[in-house]
Amino acid sequence: MNPLPTFFHPEQLAFKPRYEWAFGERIDHPETTARAESILAAVQADPMFSLRVPDELPPGAVQSVHSQPLMTLYHTATLLAPGETFYPTVFPKESQGRGDPTRLQHAGHWCFDAGTPLTHEALPAATWSAACALEAARILGRDGVALSYALSRPPGHHATRGLFGGYCYFNNAAIAARHLRRKRKRVAILDIDYHHGNGTQSLFYRDPSVLFVSIHADPTDAFPYFAGFPEESGAGRGLGYNMNLALPRGTDGAHYLRVLDDHVVPALVAFAPDALVLSAGLDTYHLDPVGDFELTTEDLHEVGRRLGRLRLPTAVIQEGGYYTPDLGLNATALLRGIAAGQR
Ligand SMILES: [Zn+2]
Repeated sequence: MNPLPTFFHPEQLAFKPRYEWAFGERIDHPETTARAESILAAVQADPMFSLRVPDELPPGAVQSVHSQPLMTLYHTATLLAPGETFYPTVFPKESQGRGDPTRLQHAGHWCFDAGTPLTHEALPAATWSAACALEAARILGRDGVALSYALSRPPGHHATRGLFGGYCYFNNAAIAARHLRRKRKRVAILDIDYHHGNGTQSLFYRDPSVLFVSIHADPTDAFPYFAGFPEESGAGRGLGYNMNLALPRGTDGAHYLRVLDDHVVPALVAFAPDALVLSAGLDTYHLDPVGDFELTTEDLHEVGRRLGRLRLPTAVIQEGGYYTPDLGLNATALLRGIAAGQR
């Protein structure tokens, strides 16, 4: 078997969010560099993986997914002093569209939570994170590559066209999917992060050519709280091409795999995509300090094996996962599962 192309750029480690606001509490930020370092160490030690630096993002790749004011705001944030943290404080709701993205005081126009800081380093890190996702999509099909991995960090699935939040700046999975759409007829995005991929859902909600399936914690009491309910099934021509499977707190591997077998896999098979983008959050792990599911490393391997059996060209995009000691173990278990299923 050829080594599994894996994309990462060292500048992704320059971004170090220090704290976030969660319901009034200032807490240490879970989206640390140790996350990527744990996965990096595991893939470097494993001959199955071939670690590569992505090419720079071509012009237009981000613009295919995100609005110009959001881009301008990120550029404005690069003027912050290194190490400085900026959180929006004012969130206008009745004057949408009239913000000035060259003024950080207006940043609340393009932000939906208080967990996602703007810093000097956020834009370059998020840009390389997106570049990894684009490369993972681009390499599919080249020299028979059927599986690729973007070690994207910061993550992306909560970012919408015009809003950042949920530790996400650019929607990496959407950037990968848009690239594949240009090359192939049909793309499915499966989001297995503990949290609903509200950003990805919103980007493809009216698009019948991209199926979005998300299996996640019930948003009644889990982030992002305002999206991810089963009745959200698409709109317009996209009606029927959005599927949310909301699971209760404490969901274990057996329950999770049953839902995967009974609902997720049949939906993917019925859609018959030409390629799969997997938003791979690992915060379903039983030790995860943010998520509240009970999946083991073996369960994650099984999730991978079932998805691999679909035998679709698959770009795996890293999303969440916060129990850093085992992130490398879990990422490689998932990817080994997919590779084994594809054989
Ligand atoms: Zn998550």
